[in-house]
Amino acid sequence: MKLISANWKMNLTPSQSLAYLQKFLPLVEGIKDREILLCPPFTSLCVVKDALKGSSVKLGAQNCYYEAKGAYTGEVSLEMLKELEVSYVIVGHSERRWIFGESDELINKKVISCLKAGLRPVLCVGEKLEEREAGLTFKVVETQIRLALSGIEEYTDSLDIAYEPVWAIGTGTPATPEDAQLVHAFIKDLLNQINSKHQGKTRVLYGGSVNPKNAGEFMSMKDVDGLLVGGASLDPESFAQIVKSF
Ligand code: PEP
Repeated sequence: MKLISANWKMNLTPSQSLAYLQKFLPLVEGIKDREILLCPPFTSLCVVKDALKGSSVKLGAQNCYYEAKGAYTGEVSLEMLKELEVSYVIVGHSERRWIFGESDELINKKVISCLKAGLRPVLCVGEKLEEREAGLTFKVVETQIRLALSGIEEYTDSLDIAYEPVWAIGTGTPATPEDAQLVHAFIKDLLNQINSKHQGKTRVLYGGSVNPKNAGEFMSMKDVDGLLVGGASLDPESFAQIVKSF
């Protein structure tokens, strides 16, 4: 099933999140042929969980820490997320990599801990502008995926991957659907190489300046299995249009 995800980033307080859902849920009621995922900030998970009771919309977190508990001030464990009925965790978002300095090694630990906890990671990968201009897109994406899956190669079917070119995130300049398709097909081939028993259950999402106007074009590409939407997911009407765009 296609997966359409909202990444609210550091936006929407708990009361604003509730106001969002009051508008959003009626707009997507009854949609069963695609999975809808909301990833609010940690502080809104609890109220969103309660508001989603009886709805098929899923709840995701934007980050996690890999240790089970202890002296890790400011961090949030998988057990804490599970109790809030979180089923997906965004791991390795480019803002985590490039603002907060998350390494491929840390991202690998986070992916492993999500899998152990039974939560499905949405692993984000993507090249920076200078890497794209140097012709390194495929190499960067391959390295990020291989390192994230290091030691857990047999679990390729247990996660989803978001291809998010860094230069396209929040810039209003998306990749072309054709360019995204090339990278998505490459990622699917790579998963087959990494794991000879790969069953193709990994959805490859596109993220980077998706909006209600371009979402349908991305979704018409053969290997685009969903979307990860930042800015345009902050408005319930525009995110609902994206959900319904294909
Ligand atoms: C994102 O944060 O994952 C993202 C794709 O952001 P935007 O849609 O704003 O480019």
